[in-house]
Amino acid sequence: MKTSEQFALNEWLSYYPENMTYEEVIALMREPDNSWSADEISVWQVVENFTLAQVADFIESTQSHFERVTAHKPAYKCNKCSSIVTTNKRFVSQDYFAFCRNCDEDMYQLEVKEVTA
Ligand SMILES: [Zn+2]
Repeated sequence: MKTSEQFALNEWLSYYPENMTYEEVIALMREPDNSWSADEISVWQVVENFTLAQVADFIESTQSHFERVTAHKPAYKCNKCSSIVTTNKRFVSQDYFAFCRNCDEDMYQLEVKEVTA
C-alpha cells in the first residue's frame, strides 16, 4: 500500500483489515449492501453519519490530495543553458537554490525561472 493510501484510510477509518489492499477496502465500502456498515470496517465517529460510499469518496480525495502535495517538486529553467533543474527546496531570494548539472554550478535567482508543468 502506498503511503498516500495508508494515510487516507487512517484519516477516515478507525479499523480495516490489514491484509486488504486499498482498492479492496474502497470496493468493499462501495458495495450496495454495505451502505451503513461493513463487517470489517469502522469509520471514525466524525463521519459515522455518512454512508460508507461517501466516506470512500472522502478517502479518495484525501489520497489524491496527499499525492499532489507530496509529488510537487519545483522545476526551474536555467537561463544560461536552458536545462530544467529540479529541487526539493523552495525558491528563496538571495539564496543559492538550485544546482545546474549542465553548467556545473549553483544558479542564482536571476539565472533561473520557475517552470510550471
Ligand atoms: Zn545551466
